Amino acid sequence: KYQLSDRVNAIQPSPTLAVSQKAAELKAAGHDVIGLGVGEPDFDTPQFVKDAAKAAIDAGHTKYTAVDGIPQLKQAVINKFQRDNGLSYEPAEILISAGGKHSIFNLLSAWLNPGDEVLIPAPYWVSYPDMSLLVGAVPRFIEAGIEQRYKITAAQLAAAITPATRLLFLNSPSNPTGTAYSKAELTALAEVLRQHPQVLIATDDMYEHILWTEEAFHNIAMVAPDLRDRIVILSGVSKAYAMTGWRIGYAAGPKPLIAAMKKIQSQSTSNPASISQYAALAALEGDQTCITTMVTEFKKRHDYLVAALNTIPGMQCIAGDGTFYTFANITELMAQKGVSTDIELCEQLLNQAKVALVPGSAFGAPGHCRFSFATSMATLEEAVRRIDAYARS
Ligand code: PLP
Repeated sequence: KYQLSDRVNAIQPSPTLAVSQKAAELKAAGHDVIGLGVGEPDFDTPQFVKDAAKAAIDAGHTKYTAVDGIPQLKQAVINKFQRDNGLSYEPAEILISAGGKHSIFNLLSAWLNPGDEVLIPAPYWVSYPDMSLLVGAVPRFIEAGIEQRYKITAAQLAAAITPATRLLFLNSPSNPTGTAYSKAELTALAEVLRQHPQVLIATDDMYEHILWTEEAFHNIAMVAPDLRDRIVILSGVSKAYAMTGWRIGYAAGPKPLIAAMKKIQSQSTSNPASISQYAALAALEGDQTCITTMVTEFKKRHDYLVAALNTIPGMQCIAGDGTFYTFANITELMAQKGVSTDIELCEQLLNQAKVALVPGSAFGAPGHCRFSFATSMATLEEAVRRIDAYARS
């Protein structure tokens, strides 16, 4: 009766949300389930950010704004790039959108034609392939296993680029693996990209601030300034400031591309929520120690969890560089349990150990599962106890 579009039939609903739903169903049925599937900080939005939003309402900032965001927020984003990354942008090179996901969607809609190829290093963030499919493009994967810390090499990139390649996604530090590209690694990737001027580079810096490496954060725009007119930086306030519900993301890139993304936004969502924009403004311009507090806690949990998971028979996990995720290789555990897929193993973990995790297949990396440590230490300890008991049973 309802003949839906080819476009929507080409994609799947977000698998991370599916796990949360299954866990919620079990919880509702009275089961004591620990959810380690979530992709958002367990911290509250900082009080000064909430106060700014309340003040914005009282000041009457409750109407349409400019499609691309209020000028003050665009300036705050420009200041952020100057302060944190040493990069200079003009207002016409910045677009504020309704979350990081929306920024990505605008970019893909503005840049890709049906049949264009998008290079996606795997493990990848779940939405890149489906968002590419939604605009008719063809996702192509470059696989990077645990032995290369889940990061692609320059040689792999060189081998993967074809004349049809129009976009490369980079995401560092990475959801789901927690590993980050070093300055040297990005420099090597940039060298390959210099030889392929048809390829636009989308660097998803959503977890920029949740990083604990000795080397400071780098993205490809910082190491290869000559590629500036081929790079779009995608980021937002969701993770760094515990503001997932406010829906503010931003993009920085070449003027014609940002203008095209703005045109799409003008005919789809218009401006992001005015109140959220004032909240994001406060977050970007306020005291940044709220980030440090969260990162210190994430690092503590990371250290505990990685060490603990490595004591579980059949699980292997490397130390990450940032984010609030760790990605465990479970191929041995699958063999021990006689299950053939990570999805099946995660189902057993949910039903028997009552711990909800996202299977690696969702991130293009079968034989793994993703742990989110955006939850209390006590909860993590209990989850480890349960998984260990399951693994040894
Ligand atoms: N990029 C990455 C790598 C993410 O993990 C996420 C959220 O999970 C996003 C982008 C989207 O963030 P937002 O919630 O602002 O849409």
